[in-house]
Amino acid sequence: MTKSGGAPPAKADGKTEYASPPVPTRAAAMACLDAFVPRAGQAYAQGRNTATAPGQQGAVSGLSPYIRHRLITEAEVLAPVLERHGPVVGEAFIREVFWRSYWKGWLELRPALWDSYKARLAACQQDRALMARAHQAMRGQTGIDCFDAWAHELTATGTLHNHIRMWFASIWCFTLELPWVVGADAFFHHLLDADAASNLLSWRWVAGSQTPGKHYVARAANIETYTQGRFAPHGRLNETPAPIIEPNPAPLPGLPTAAPLPGGRVGVLLHEDDLGFETLELGGMVPAAVAGLAVPDARSPQGASALAGAWTRHAVQDALTRVGACLEGKSPLLTPDDVCGWARAAGLDAVLTPWAPVGWVADELNRLEQPLAAAGIHLIRHRRAWDETCWPLAQRGFFAFKTHIPALLAKLLPDTPRSSHA
Ligand SMILES: Cc1cc2nc3c(=O)[nH]c(=O)nc-3n(C[C@H](O)[C@H](O)[C@H](O)COP(=O)(O)OP(=O)(O)OC[C@H]3O[C@@H](n4cnc5c(N)ncnc54)[C@H](O)[C@@H]3O)c2cc1C
Repeated sequence: MTKSGGAPPAKADGKTEYASPPVPTRAAAMACLDAFVPRAGQAYAQGRNTATAPGQQGAVSGLSPYIRHRLITEAEVLAPVLERHGPVVGEAFIREVFWRSYWKGWLELRPALWDSYKARLAACQQDRALMARAHQAMRGQTGIDCFDAWAHELTATGTLHNHIRMWFASIWCFTLELPWVVGADAFFHHLLDADAASNLLSWRWVAGSQTPGKHYVARAANIETYTQGRFAPHGRLNETPAPIIEPNPAPLPGLPTAAPLPGGRVGVLLHEDDLGFETLELGGMVPAAVAGLAVPDARSPQGASALAGAWTRHAVQDALTRVGACLEGKSPLLTPDDVCGWARAAGLDAVLTPWAPVGWVADELNRLEQPLAAAGIHLIRHRRAWDETCWPLAQRGFFAFKTHIPALLAKLLPDTPRSSHA
């Protein structure tokens, strides 16, 4: 990474020049949003499926690594879009942001799926021949030119356009006949926006497990159209596969109870799932200490790629720098092993963390609960109103969830003026 947090353009296949990764700061997130808002209406709706060539400006926002780490919140992203375009012209973009909230809620209500994913991945990793084929695919050596190019692009940049992620996952499952759990793990390793719910459930959705029997089939003609003719893998793809049907666990009756804000001497532990210190709903409480937790390598048995790991640590560091600008005292970047010592040294009664949804950060926080309790320190997980309101609605499919969007916007962004563009 360069001093500003960005990296020079990479050439993973020796030929293609990719754009630099986004800079992992809240200031860069705000700049990205400002630049995108004018394009968030019709231009987005019409152009969002087109996967432009690497390095070219497409119609999508590029906000996902920022939203995923909450360097910027869903509310902060949607407010200016509503103001500029209104709920009708801005509908396509607004809906995509709610896909994220939907996936987060869906997994939160079915945490067993995360554990079964990890167990299945561990079993696959015992199969040497299978893993050799998967590694070969990730090195871009399948002989399917589009897939190989996307494998190089993912490795070099830590991201892929949404439509490419869909094609990639579909080719992985149905043409290469590799297990989706291994593909999901490869995405976790590389993606700057790696997110337990969005990644896992999107892979299940492509495979045909999420909406039982409905799978996403990558077709050469569709790839040709939406890559503007760069790729046309006619005759190379399995376009008539059967879906991979797996049962969906029943949802929990509700979200796990979130604790109220504690009294006493409270320290805030920010983490890579929520770096929005400025927008945390602390009810006026001023923390006695603030620290940050970065565990990017916990996302996968192979850890995070060098690019994704550095990006995440820089993002956490950016949050701590911002905290330092408004609170006195040092705000250190911690590993899980440091947390108890930090809390004790600061004389804390409680460590408050933003809620970590089901995934590797929540796993790490769960492991910290007992040693903190042994030191007489409570670990309090605090959920934002956005999540508290959206997640319980993820009971069934997205189409049922999406009917709630107008009411959710009215409740969660009551003061945002709406453009009346139709
Ligand atoms: C197989 C597969 C794996 C994926 N893994 C991830 C992941 O690990 N993390 C992640 O954030 N997204 C994931 N996605 C969703 C999507 O591809 C990315 O969010 C998208 O590419 C982000 O680009 P953008 O910010 O330019 O999106 P835009 O089109 O500008 O959308 C705006 C925002 O809406 C949200 N969003 C858009 N599409 C989706 C979607 N399909 N699901 C959930 N949220 C969405 C993102 O927060 C995004 O920043 C995955 C999709 C697939 C098919």
